[in-house]
Amino acid sequence: MKSFLLYGAVSTLLLTSCQPSKASKEKEAADTTETVKIDSANTKPADNKTILARREVPVLCYHQIRNNIASDSKRAHDDIIAPDKFKEHMKMLADSGYHSILPDQLYNYLVYGAKLPEKPIIITFDDTDEDQFTIGNTTLKKYGFKGVYFIMTVSIGRKGRINYMTKEQIKQLSDEGNTIASHTYDHKNFAQFTDEDWTTQIDAPTKKLEEITGKKVEYFAFPYGVFKASTLHKLKEHGFKAAFILSTARDENYPLYTIRRIIDPGRYTAKNLYYSINKSFNKTKP
Ligand SMILES: [Zn+2]
Repeated sequence: MKSFLLYGAVSTLLLTSCQPSKASKEKEAADTTETVKIDSANTKPADNKTILARREVPVLCYHQIRNNIASDSKRAHDDIIAPDKFKEHMKMLADSGYHSILPDQLYNYLVYGAKLPEKPIIITFDDTDEDQFTIGNTTLKKYGFKGVYFIMTVSIGRKGRINYMTKEQIKQLSDEGNTIASHTYDHKNFAQFTDEDWTTQIDAPTKKLEEITGKKVEYFAFPYGVFKASTLHKLKEHGFKAAFILSTARDENYPLYTIRRIIDPGRYTAKNLYYSINKSFNKTKP
């Protein structure tokens, strides 16, 4: 399980100082996650150049929401955020006017130019940890946010040093309007996939998650954020509309399959996160 904590290089983002907060919008909580219907048969999809030129929507990546313990390695700290800190960071997003959106909305925006709410953001969780349900989902709901849960199916229902979400919890997240997505069977590095892995790490997990949720599974996150350009086309063939990396560069031939995310590490203050979002994602004008 230790290997689940090893992620690819995440660039350290420069931080500046200024006040991010505005008045609390906690009460607003309008649902901004409804997908606009696109007449895809009669709407021309954008080419890669157009997709790459669109302003990037910030995507955040979380793993474990818990307090550190002595045995946590230094490297693991990036993947652990204290519950109080996580709550503070979600409040900062709400107070700063961010609206959570879901992958279907991002896809329609990138491919068809569909409109997004003001200050869109995507909040994602990797690896199935139960605290994403107990603390993550509970906190998101408080601010009217929805999330994306990238599940590695081997861990479903597992209890131990780390507790993982059960089928019932995953179904509830889906029923409440969050997106359930794939993160392979057991976190195998995508760059090392064999032919057989396309069945065990991709097709079987999709089937399992679709059985649990009763909905299609169309989004994928690469374990460790690592991808291999030469096999990205296969994700489309296996039913995925888009896939998420970490904060490395997008593949210019497959921008939909290399959507960038940043980790919100446990050491960040809410202000650090605010500036990190702007530094990493707001380079391109609409
Ligand atoms: Zn992972």
